[in-house]
Amino acid sequence: MVVAIVGILASLLMPSLQKARIVSIQAVCINNLKQQAIALEMYVGDYNDILPPHMNTSGPYTGPYRPDQLAVYMNGTLENSKEVFECPSVTNHHKLGDYSDNHFHVFPTKTVDAPGMTMGSYTRPSELMSHVDSEDHTTGKGAWWVPCPVTHSGLNVQASGRHGGKTSVLFLDSHVESMKHSNVLGNKDDLWGHFTR
Ligand SMILES: [Zn+2]
Ligand SMILES: [Zn+2]
Repeated sequence: MVVAIVGILASLLMPSLQKARIVSIQAVCINNLKQQAIALEMYVGDYNDILPPHMNTSGPYTGPYRPDQLAVYMNGTLENSKEVFECPSVTNHHKLGDYSDNHFHVFPTKTVDAPGMTMGSYTRPSELMSHVDSEDHTTGKGAWWVPCPVTHSGLNVQASGRHGGKTSVLFLDSHVESMKHSNVLGNKDDLWGHFTR
């Protein structure tokens, strides 16, 4: 009898405990994005408002990459700032982290030979996505860049709904929201800046 009641109580508690666990893990993720936002603000402060390039090279993928450039404003190097770039819901981290910048519409590809966009050039920073939880479906790993889903929905790498169907999104004005994954993929309110900036 007691065992049965405990069993029933446990089954009643389980969903709310699971939900609490998702929320507490998500809080770490959101805090990670906030720290990236602070680093981003410091970076543009040092570079005449110009956003860090997706990768700072004009040749092949040699880096330094955007996470490397933000880590300068954290613990100096990406290696020493690793946990800020690792979403706690990911077990198989990408070496450059599990968060992507909005590479197609906000962050320039390379700025060694092409000057990047300035932060101030975006007219709706509170609605435009800066960084997002991302993953590679084929490897199960986190991902450090995603394409805009409007034109490239079929690629392996996409924004991830790994927090119980929610996605952590950093906006260009440095606020972070937990959004429905389908809204992120659906470019709700032109989140990605595909139609307007
Ligand atoms: Zn996350
Ligand atoms: Zn697009």
